[in-house]
Amino acid sequence: MNMIPSHKNKQYAKVATHKAAIINGAPSSNSASLDLKSFMEDLTKRTPGEIEFHQAVHEVMCDVIPYVNEHNKYKEANIIERLTEPDRSIMFRVNWEDDNGRIHTNRGYRVQFNNSIGPYKGGLRFHPTVNLSVLKFLGFEQIFKNSLTNLPLGAGKGGSDFNPQGRTDREIMRFCIAFMTELSKYIGNTVDIPAGDIGVGEREIGYLYGQYKKLVNGFEGSITGKGLEFGGSLIRKEATGYGCVYFMEEMLNNIGDSVRGKTCVVSGSGNVAQYAIEKINHLGGRVVTVSDSSGFIYDPEGIDNVKLGHIMSLKNIDRGRISEYSEKFKAQYFSNKTPWSVPCDLAFPCATQNEIYEFDAHELVKNGCKAVSEGANMPTNSDGIRVFQQNNVLFGPGKAANAGGVAVSGMEMSQNSQHSNWDKEHLDESLKGVIKDIHKKCYIFGTQSGKTNYLKGANIGGFKKVADAMVAYGIN
Ligand code: GLU
Repeated sequence: MNMIPSHKNKQYAKVATHKAAIINGAPSSNSASLDLKSFMEDLTKRTPGEIEFHQAVHEVMCDVIPYVNEHNKYKEANIIERLTEPDRSIMFRVNWEDDNGRIHTNRGYRVQFNNSIGPYKGGLRFHPTVNLSVLKFLGFEQIFKNSLTNLPLGAGKGGSDFNPQGRTDREIMRFCIAFMTELSKYIGNTVDIPAGDIGVGEREIGYLYGQYKKLVNGFEGSITGKGLEFGGSLIRKEATGYGCVYFMEEMLNNIGDSVRGKTCVVSGSGNVAQYAIEKINHLGGRVVTVSDSSGFIYDPEGIDNVKLGHIMSLKNIDRGRISEYSEKFKAQYFSNKTPWSVPCDLAFPCATQNEIYEFDAHELVKNGCKAVSEGANMPTNSDGIRVFQQNNVLFGPGKAANAGGVAVSGMEMSQNSQHSNWDKEHLDESLKGVIKDIHKKCYIFGTQSGKTNYLKGANIGGFKKVADAMVAYGIN
């Protein structure tokens, strides 16, 4: 009796024909229709345990595989398989000494994912949760995000499992110097241009760039997010947060509405959250929450710019916990909780990946949330996204909504190579323009029968440019 189920039988037959073709020296064809499930099974087998990476790829492939099946040139060129394998993943040891003379060893990474449309570009993350899977997911997302900006930016991501929390300035400096001593071998302004991400802000970029310029004996840019004194760009530090609110404004304007007068829930209290709050305030919205990894603050009266100033000094200078907010202002603090059960019109997840699950999405819908713009990378998991889509919540995915940061990084690169500085108004207008164009692209690729799926639009809109470049290069 044949024990192989008939659908598997077909699969085995396909594999057998393919093998026979290879043995006989005949060129194998990539014209067969792709199937999401078997593609994901293969990917999982090739990359065991890389769950965040699998999640990010699945989120993209749900939309891209059907598109590729309709466009033979991408199928023939085997683009999907090529796109999900980084050009290279570099891993290295970082030794550094703390203030007490103790020697520590951390792991450093740079995943150079795809340079089809420009040099590798993406941030560095210093956080204890960093591992190869997390950086591959972030590097993969960066392909689509950077492509959507329409700037010549390839995709990469790097970082370390180093935990900056509780470390002194000198310890941070020693770590950054040790990290860059190794990373410098793999980057350069036409090769790979890192920037900041979680745990890597202006202070760290200063130490990293200082060491880089010393090692290469040249002042070549090569990192973005630099201080204004040494080649940085105005608006860069505001760009991700502002861009995420501009994207929300675009989605709302498109249905004849706006951020003005809306109650907004923001998660996180780092760079992205801070400037998202500033821009929401500027556009007349009211932000009622802010959070960190220990809990969240609920301030129903709204976090105005004075309170925001306090959060900025608490987080950027004192490096304290958000719970301290309620010691200064009248607000409730919820320990070990996320803000998604707070009634709101709009939500801005600006903390980190996987912070909105199915339950949280239901809570948001139940409490009146009408639109979500992701300031973080992949903060909503796939069940959460499904809940938003089923309930007609406008959903701006991170790869579109948070692309403002890398877009202004691209502008920093242009200023560096022109040896010039652009003014604030010009940069802010350019940022708005990039976000407007991204929204338009997502709208065009994501609208069917009057309904817009921004995730689908971002996935296909981001894919097309990179895939066309890959096809143009041949087997490369
Ligand atoms: N880390 C940011 C991001 O997720 C910025 C990257 C960059 O500026 O290169 O897009």
